[in-house]
Amino acid sequence: MLINWYPGHMAKAKRLIEANLKVIDVVIELVDARIPLSSTNPMIAQFIGQKPSVVVLNKADLADPAVLKEWKAYYVSQGRRVMLLNSRDGKGVQQLVKLVRTLAEPKLARWRARGLKNRSVRTMILGIPNVGKSTLINKLARRSAAKTADKPGETKGKQWVHIGDQLDLLDTPGVLWPKLENQVSAYRLAATGAISDAAFDMETVLTQLVAELSQWYPQLLTARFKLDALAADPMETIEAIGRKRGCIVSGGAVDLEKTYKLILKEYRDGKIGPISLDRVGEFADKGRDSQ
Ligand code: GDP
Repeated sequence: MLINWYPGHMAKAKRLIEANLKVIDVVIELVDARIPLSSTNPMIAQFIGQKPSVVVLNKADLADPAVLKEWKAYYVSQGRRVMLLNSRDGKGVQQLVKLVRTLAEPKLARWRARGLKNRSVRTMILGIPNVGKSTLINKLARRSAAKTADKPGETKGKQWVHIGDQLDLLDTPGVLWPKLENQVSAYRLAATGAISDAAFDMETVLTQLVAELSQWYPQLLTARFKLDALAADPMETIEAIGRKRGCIVSGGAVDLEKTYKLILKEYRDGKIGPISLDRVGEFADKGRDSQ
C-alpha cells in the first residue's frame, strides 16, 4: 500500500503541536468512533503528558452502538475520560464543553487561591486528518458569543474562541499523523477516508472492507445491496453488488472500479448502517498493535 507520509512532515507536525501545547491546560483528543485505535496516534500519550484530557469518539452516528459501549468501557479501564460525539449535528457538544470545564476546575481553583479570578483555561483539539476537528471547532465557535482577541505575550498570534465559562479554545487544531505501521489500521484508515483515495490500492481496501462487513454485519450488507447470500470470497460479493447496481462494462463484465467507489461511498456515508471496524481487544490479542 502506497502511503504519502514522510518523516519530515511528522517532525514538523510534532514541533507545531508541542509549541501550541505549552499554553494548553486541557487536551481534547478526537478519534473516529468507527476505528478508535486505528485513528489515534502512537505519540498522543506523550503529547498529553500530565495534562487533563478527554478522548472524544467522534462520528458516533456512523459507528455500531454496541461496540461503542465496549470502547467506552475500555477507555474508562485505561483511566481516561471518554465521550461520544456527533460533531456534524452537534449532539454531545454541550456535554463536551461541560466535561472540559470540569477537567479544568482544579487549575481554576489554584488560580482563584492566588487571586486570579478572571483567568480562563485553554483547550485545544488534537487528531489525525478527517476525524472532524474543523467541524467540531465550527460547532463550538458558532455557539460562542465572540472570538477573543490575541492575548498579549505568551499566546502571540493565536486565536482563541470563548466556548464556555472561563474556557477558551484554540481555533486551529493540532493535526497528528495517522498510524500506518500496521496494515489493518492502514486499510481501515483508507476505508473511512482518513487517507486520500490516491494513496491506496482500491482493490485491497475494498476486499478487506467487504470481508469484514461480511463477518460482522452480514445482514446490513445483504439488506443494503439486496443480496440473497454472501459469498465466502469477498470479490464475488463485490461482483454481485456491481451487477445489482448496474455497474457493467460493455461485454457484460462488472465494472470493478465503479463498484469499489460505490461501496466505499455508501459505507462512508453511513448508508450501509452503523458500523464499527476496530474492536476492543483485537489489536492486543493479535499483536497487531506495534506501538
Ligand atoms: P478534520 O480534517 O479533522 O478537520 O475533519 P473535518 O472537520 O473536515 O471533517 C471531515 C468530514 O467528516 C467532513 O465531511 C465532516 O462533515 C464529517 N464529519 C465530522 N464530524 C462528523 C460526525 O460527527 N458525524 C458524521 N457523520 N460526519 C462527520
